Amino acid sequence: MIMNEEYRDKHKIISLIKAINKKATRRWKIMEVCGGQTNTILKSGIEELLLDSVEFIHGPGCPVCITPEQKIDEVISLSTIPENIILTFGDMMRVPGSFKTLNEAKSEGGDIRVVYSPIDSIKIAKENPDKKVIFFGIGFETTMPLYATLLLCAEKLSLRNLFILHSLYSVTGILNSLFIDEMINPDAVLAAGHVCAVTGYDDYFQISSSYNKPFVIAGFEVFDILCAVYSTIEMLESGECDVKNEYTRTVGKKQNSVVKSVFETVYEPANQKLRGFGELSNGGYRLKERFEAYDAGSCLRSELNKFRDTKKNDNYCMDSIIMCGKAIPTQCQYFANSCTPMTPKGVSMVTSEGICAAYYKNCLNNTIKKYEI
Ligand code: SF4
Repeated sequence: MIMNEEYRDKHKIISLIKAINKKATRRWKIMEVCGGQTNTILKSGIEELLLDSVEFIHGPGCPVCITPEQKIDEVISLSTIPENIILTFGDMMRVPGSFKTLNEAKSEGGDIRVVYSPIDSIKIAKENPDKKVIFFGIGFETTMPLYATLLLCAEKLSLRNLFILHSLYSVTGILNSLFIDEMINPDAVLAAGHVCAVTGYDDYFQISSSYNKPFVIAGFEVFDILCAVYSTIEMLESGECDVKNEYTRTVGKKQNSVVKSVFETVYEPANQKLRGFGELSNGGYRLKERFEAYDAGSCLRSELNKFRDTKKNDNYCMDSIIMCGKAIPTQCQYFANSCTPMTPKGVSMVTSEGICAAYYKNCLNNTIKKYEI
């Protein structure tokens, strides 16, 4: 608690805001790629206080939001088969697929259950030997070690009725695509501290030098973000291009060796489809051949596309454009009227890390005035 207070000290924050505004000679486009950081930026109101120095571009940091509709459709298809039990995290239940959500599929009779940890799947698979138990998991490198642990346990126990349906994303794969698209192309990137705590940040040097863009590893407190912005502006103003770490209390340069070993045992890089981005080369990961017996995408392939319904055509949600940083939620005609967290039209309003939900929560009444300068 004391530690958090230190990173929220009002005087330090105001000094940093003044220093950034003094250092910047123009408005720089800086993208943060983590939904947690987006929430901190919006909640603190620093966007307004840095208006002349920084244009924050809120990037694709929410794994739920970038999961393709087709993946939800596949899970729904699996749930229509009576001998299947689907397990997933609670935040996936309200995500719209092409036809419906998992909540709707559950209300129509699908055996879809929310679990708190992937490891809960082991117990459920043991209790239901006559059923196929399928864990649906999505995420970046931060959640992948959890899924890997599940697979290693399942293998050790020789469970034959447990499967995993994955949609896994690589932060560096996505970052590579940001600079190719002229409509996004930020001047610099604030990298997500929690991802770098798992992966290290060695890989960022090559992306930074390929596109001549500075990267700064940032934490999640407002002070962390401002330190990273200051460091970024310093590099941009001097024409320097490097990767710097402003989250040293958590992040080291190298990948954690235990995590590295688990990663390399279970996963390999692969092309991946993402909502808003299409298919990205090395945009994600797949299971290695050793774990193919647990891969629902390959073992249950014939069950993935059994279900078809009429595609909803009343949904003109533009969140796939918003999550790439090409628009902001207030440009959407439905924002805060027919689309709210209670009545979401798009996934970005469903999950708390989604940009539309973050705007709704933090910016609706323009009441943020935390730091008077
Ligand atoms: S406000 Fe709602 S409808 Fe508009 S882009 Fe966001 S999620 Fe979609």
